[in-house]
Amino acid sequence: MFQTLRLILGDQLNSNHSWFKEKEERTLYVLMEIRQETDYVVHHVQKILAFFAAMRNFAQELQNAGHKVFYFALDNPENQQDLCKNLEFLMHKFPIRRFEYQLPDEYRLDTQLKEFCQNIPIASQAFDTEHFLSKREDLDQHFGAKKYLLESFYRQMRKKYNILMEGDQPLTGRWNYDAENRKKFSYQVPVPKELYLPNNVADLIELLQKQKVRTIGFLPNNNILNVPISRKQALMLLEHFVNNLLPYFGTYEDAMHTQEPHLFHSQLSFALNVKLLHPLEVLEKAITTWQNNAEKISIAQVEGFVRQILGWREYMRGVYWAKMPDYAQNNYLGHSAPLPSWYWTGKTRMNCARQVIMQSLQEAFAHHIQRLMVTGNIALLLGVSPDEVDKWYLGIYRDAIEWVEITNTRGMSQYADGGLIASKPYTASANYMDKMSNYCENCYYDKKKRYGEKACPLNSLYWEFHYRHREKLAKNQRIRIVYQMLSKMHPTELQKIVEQAQWYRNNAENL
Ligand SMILES: Cc1cc2nc3c(=O)[nH]c(=O)nc-3n(C[C@H](O)[C@H](O)[C@H](O)COP(=O)(O)OP(=O)(O)OC[C@H]3O[C@@H](n4cnc5c(N)ncnc54)[C@H](O)[C@@H]3O)c2cc1C
Ligand code: SF4
Repeated sequence: MFQTLRLILGDQLNSNHSWFKEKEERTLYVLMEIRQETDYVVHHVQKILAFFAAMRNFAQELQNAGHKVFYFALDNPENQQDLCKNLEFLMHKFPIRRFEYQLPDEYRLDTQLKEFCQNIPIASQAFDTEHFLSKREDLDQHFGAKKYLLESFYRQMRKKYNILMEGDQPLTGRWNYDAENRKKFSYQVPVPKELYLPNNVADLIELLQKQKVRTIGFLPNNNILNVPISRKQALMLLEHFVNNLLPYFGTYEDAMHTQEPHLFHSQLSFALNVKLLHPLEVLEKAITTWQNNAEKISIAQVEGFVRQILGWREYMRGVYWAKMPDYAQNNYLGHSAPLPSWYWTGKTRMNCARQVIMQSLQEAFAHHIQRLMVTGNIALLLGVSPDEVDKWYLGIYRDAIEWVEITNTRGMSQYADGGLIASKPYTASANYMDKMSNYCENCYYDKKKRYGEKACPLNSLYWEFHYRHREKLAKNQRIRIVYQMLSKMHPTELQKIVEQAQWYRNNAENL
């Protein structure tokens, strides 16, 4: 009979974990679909579908490999719908003498499991997930009391893993190709056809509906969830990315286009975050492909990609563990406005916002610049409470898990940590939007106007944001030029802009 109970959380689908190297008759693995997880925030329906489908596959694969698995389906009558209650249930059902789990990536679950282990009468042990390239505490140890800097952490990681290095110097002599990765997209090159993963999730949709799980967003077209839900599919997506998208990944990394919502982005975040893929295998695959195709793929493309995974992804995790739980309370700019209801429906006349919100509702995905410079930027300029912004981002994207969501949202996008992650607030007016996308071409608003009828809301909001927060931001050297321009602005012009922006903020629901 089972003596050891091992918990696998929904984002711990790592089949290469050392746990699975040996089959042990008396070890029971448990995975659970529970209301605790479907309900802690209102999720996009496709996010829950992707998690459940991937968990079910993973459980099946473990069983096929000869491991013993107990799977709590959402409608299993024995399911207590609570992580700890389900664990207790199994501990009573079987003569369990030992409980083991992998360290959760979320503070919420970390605390819950620590407390649980303190209160059970049997031995327990936490294991590393064997996924990340840095430890929870590495970032904090690297910087100590010094200011956190992505660039310094990223370089250290490049050295540590000997990635794109020649001795202790960066290959080609340059660490960073960011400046070359800012091109607007207008079909200079064709966008490759998307990989199609025909995952029929009709049964899971029925389950969520029967169990009355509250969700946002649209169901997948024809019940087909085109998201990697097994390691095999995740590897197929990785292959598709390196062969077809990597050659232009960096060049068009910041671009946005109405007809090409994903451009050359990998869409690997879900597979990475639930650990179907290991970050090192993703990096190695990209680098080998680049080495074998140097005439087709430039270093700028591959460095841009490496920076996201080896740099930003690990950096955000380090910030999360160094600063939680206080991080979730940060609100440096004191923002408190409600999130306009059109964030949940896409019903706004601002074409940039409508495009990104509708896309997010349709597929539970938007790429980085859409998240940062469209929906994030607009919420920031409107002065929306970071709590509300966080809730939206945590719910709507299929890759949203708090460690990577909150640091990107509250930190990078909302500047609520006062500049710990971002060295300046990421704000933009129509000028930027028009430079990096074709959204302004078919907009109700006039991208050139700062005030008056149909003036683009972002233009006045952008200046009023900086004017409103001048005491906190004017000393920031990275936006010195903004404040120089503000100081040269004619007082009448400034007054008109401020009045226009205030009107827009007071009428944000009707934008
Ligand atoms: C406001 C906001 C909220 C975000 N919320 C999330 C989230 O909940 N979950 C999430 O995984 N990412 C989040 N990001 C980061 C980033 O937008 C997504 O990782 C990316 O869009 C996923 O698409 P992709 O796989 O095509 O990425 P690509 O552009 O192809 O990049 C490759 C990989 O690099 C990693 N990566 C890239 N940028 C970041 C970043 N800033 N932080 C951490 N990892 C990064 C991801 O694993 C990604 O899959 C957020 C960004 C912003 C601005
Ligand atoms: S004109 Fe303004 S609101 Fe319209 S798409 Fe451009 S930036 Fe967005």
